[in-house]
Amino acid sequence: MTLVVDKTRIDEVVGSLSHQLLINGEWVDAASGRTFETLNPASEEVLASVAHGEAEDVDLAVRAARAAFEEGAPWRRMPHGERGKIIHRLGDLVLEHLEDFALLESLDNGKPYWAAEAVDVPLAADLLHYMSGWATKIEGSTIPTSGLDPTQYLSFTLKEPVGVCAQIIPWNIPLLMAAWKIGPALAAGCTTVLKTAEQTPLSALLLGELAMRAGVPAGVLNIVTGFGDAGAALAAHPDVDKVTFTGSTEVGRKIVKAAAGSNLKKVSLELGGKSPNVIFADADIDKAITDSANAIFFNQGESCVAGSRLYVEESVYDEVVAGIAEQARSIKVGDGLDPGTAMGPLISQAQFERVTGYIRSGRDEGAVVHGGDRVGDRGYFVAPTVLAGTREDMTAVREEIFGPVVAVAPFSAESDIVPTANNTNYGLGAGVFTRDISKAYRTARRLRAGTVWVNTWNVFDASLPFGGYKESGWGREMGGAVFDNYLETKTVITDLG
Ligand code: NAP
Ligand code: MG
Repeated sequence: MTLVVDKTRIDEVVGSLSHQLLINGEWVDAASGRTFETLNPASEEVLASVAHGEAEDVDLAVRAARAAFEEGAPWRRMPHGERGKIIHRLGDLVLEHLEDFALLESLDNGKPYWAAEAVDVPLAADLLHYMSGWATKIEGSTIPTSGLDPTQYLSFTLKEPVGVCAQIIPWNIPLLMAAWKIGPALAAGCTTVLKTAEQTPLSALLLGELAMRAGVPAGVLNIVTGFGDAGAALAAHPDVDKVTFTGSTEVGRKIVKAAAGSNLKKVSLELGGKSPNVIFADADIDKAITDSANAIFFNQGESCVAGSRLYVEESVYDEVVAGIAEQARSIKVGDGLDPGTAMGPLISQAQFERVTGYIRSGRDEGAVVHGGDRVGDRGYFVAPTVLAGTREDMTAVREEIFGPVVAVAPFSAESDIVPTANNTNYGLGAGVFTRDISKAYRTARRLRAGTVWVNTWNVFDASLPFGGYKESGWGREMGGAVFDNYLETKTVITDLG
């Protein structure tokens, strides 16, 4: 196997990173002096040891973020355009380090190098570039009042940064999630403490270094690598104004409780999904098969918007199942640094066991299984899997798997399929494939999800709001809509006398 880079280059990129915490513009060890190891899930080998941030470090990071948010601090006095330029420069620096980031994401998460290079890193840079423009475009309004004498009162709103943010991210798309969080927070004028996922701390460390180089003042962006307890300490910290979290619905609930229990901090959440994908018989079937395979298999299926429940109109059901099973078979599973790899390993042993457990439950409950085997004997590789002929009561249909496993079932009538598609506690993504534009929009309107794709899947843009209905979250990220998460509205009422 020839890898896209050699061992020397890996050592150089991983070795040149700081492996400490970024607090108040300085790289520091954890207060306890402890470190933890991050693994390459393809080889199960240790990539690096990084600082193990805990509650004490979280407290120092929050203090730094608070000081940087104080009235009169450089960040507060900085012209909005200057803030925008810093965020833009950070986007430029991310692109300048495209290959380093792609390598770190592939090594730490397992995803194919080409995917990180073509998708994760460019999207992160574009998000930062897009958000940089918002720094100068956050506006309040002058409001024509309802019951007041308009010649006596002048009323307007100011949009102000919410304050010190805690931003907690997962391991599946680490760099992009970090960018989604810090880009708008900085554009809004907030200060922040970012907590990376325990499995994937590395790309955020490079991002932190570049943020300093771009001119982000000390204390404005702090990065704590650590475990769930560090996230919990942030969510409960009485001097944090706002927590934004991406991860599981289960941890999302804990965040809400912790946030309410301390100081009733503001909360926004991007949580899990079990996204339905509906293919009607009149669709372009070849495209529907390719896009639906991509919907579930991209990023090893470790995607909150994975199209994991597929419903296919009866007359094309066999053709679609055969087509997706064939696509699954043709996906080359392997080391993310092998240029031929289309799908990397799952993130961890725990995730491997979870995913294969769901595949077993599908088989036990009567689904026809295509794929589903372990690949190789080292690394957390599992073959892309189709569970065909599934029923709504099956565990693998009801629960989020967060792996490359799609449940496929036939349907007979348009009127029945939308209630079935909506029959989930989640509401993050959904999709519909049809050539009939009326049917497409009718279905899109009825699907209860934050994003509905029509004749495509996995298309994202920094300008387009993203988030969940129901238990998939609170609030939206990206687009102008994200600023609802990071701004307070102040109403100023003046008696002109
Ligand atoms: P997770 O266990 O919820 O972890 C997410 C983050 O929260 C990690 O940084 C984690 O630290 C931290 N954390 C764990 N316990 C915490 C606590 N009690 N308080 C505060 N923070 C805590 O999720 P995951 O396993 O990393 O990711 C998989 C899940 O995330 C899936 O369910 C998936 O759907 C969801 N997800 C959603 C989106 C979205 O945009 N909606 C995107 C990606 C993933 P540790 O790393 O130490 O556990
Ligand atoms: Mg790792």
